[in-house]
Amino acid sequence: MPITKTEKRVDINQRRIINGADADVMQLSPMKHKFAWEAYLAGNANHWLPTEITMQNDIEQWKSDSVLTADERKAFKTVLGFFTTADSIAANNIVLASYKHVTSPECRMYMLRQGYEEAIHTHAYQYIVESLGLDEGEIYNMYREVDAIYEKASFILSFNEGIFDPNFKTGTFEADQKFLENIAVFALILEGIFFYSAFAVMFGFQRQNKMIGSAEQIQYIMRDESQHLNFGINIINSIKEEQPELWTPEFQQHIVDLVKEGTRLEYTFAQTVFPKGIFGMNAEGFKQYIEYIADRRLTRVGLPEQFGVSNPFPWMSEAIDLNKEKNFFETRVTEYQVGGTLDW
Ligand code: FE
Repeated sequence: MPITKTEKRVDINQRRIINGADADVMQLSPMKHKFAWEAYLAGNANHWLPTEITMQNDIEQWKSDSVLTADERKAFKTVLGFFTTADSIAANNIVLASYKHVTSPECRMYMLRQGYEEAIHTHAYQYIVESLGLDEGEIYNMYREVDAIYEKASFILSFNEGIFDPNFKTGTFEADQKFLENIAVFALILEGIFFYSAFAVMFGFQRQNKMIGSAEQIQYIMRDESQHLNFGINIINSIKEEQPELWTPEFQQHIVDLVKEGTRLEYTFAQTVFPKGIFGMNAEGFKQYIEYIADRRLTRVGLPEQFGVSNPFPWMSEAIDLNKEKNFFETRVTEYQVGGTLDW
C-alpha cells in the first residue's frame, strides 16, 4: 500500500478488520482491535519450544511390546498423521491467503505471531515422529492416503483457494462474505473442531499414563490453539459489527451448514481412529463430543446450537474446555512465562 504525504491524521474509527480504506497498516497505534494485541502479548508470554519436553518415556513405551496395543498404535499414528500436515495448512492460510486482506495492523501483529506458532506446532509433530522413529513417509502422506484425513484436508483447503487467488480483493459483498467464510472455516472448524477432537485422543493416552511426552506437547499446542480460535471468533464478531450487511440469514445458515459438514467429517475421522475403541473411547462417544464442541463454536459467533447434547467426556472438559483452561494450566503458566528469560 503506497503512502501519501498529508497532514490529515489517520482516524482510528476508520480502522476495519478488512476494507479499512483510510487506515494505515503500518501504524500500530492507536489501536482499535485491542483483542488482537492482547492475544499477541499472551502468545509471547506463552512461548515454548517442542525440544524443551522430554520424549524419553514415549520412546521407551513405543519400543516396548507390552505397553501399547495394535489398536492404540493405529489411533496414535492416525491422529499424528492428521496433525503433521494440518498446522501447515493453517500457517499457509494465514501467511499466503488471509494476512494481505486484513487492514488492522494490530490484527496483523497477532497473525505474524500465530503463523510462527503454527510452525512451532509443525515442529512438535516432527519432533514426535523423529523421537519415536516413525516412518516419515507413512505419517506425512496420510493426508493424501487416508480417506478420512484427505476428506478433512480437502474440505478445509477448498476455502483457502478463494481468497488465495491473486485476483481476489475484498470490498464487494460477495468477496467480503468469502473472506468471512474462510475465517469461519479455519477458526471454527479446523482449529475449533478438528484440532480439539484430535487433542482429546492424545489426552486419552495421557489418562492411561501412556505417551505423556506427546500429550505434554499437545497441551502446549492446545493453549496456543485456544488463542487462535478466540482470535478467529473475535475477527468474525468484529466484522459482523463493522459490516453487519454481510451477516444475512442465508449466510448464517451457510456457516451452520459448514459446521455441520465439519462435524460429519470429524465423525468419519473418529471411525478411522477408533475402528474398535480404546480405553473407553470410541467413535460413537466421540460423535457426541464433536457435536458438543460444534455447538459451542456456533454460539460464540451468535449462531444457534444444532445438536443440544451434553459433554460425553466430562473429564475432558477439565483439559480442553476453553473456560476452564486457565485452571488447567494454572500450575504451568508461571513456568512458561519464565521461558522468555531462560538462562542459557
Ligand atoms: Fe492455529
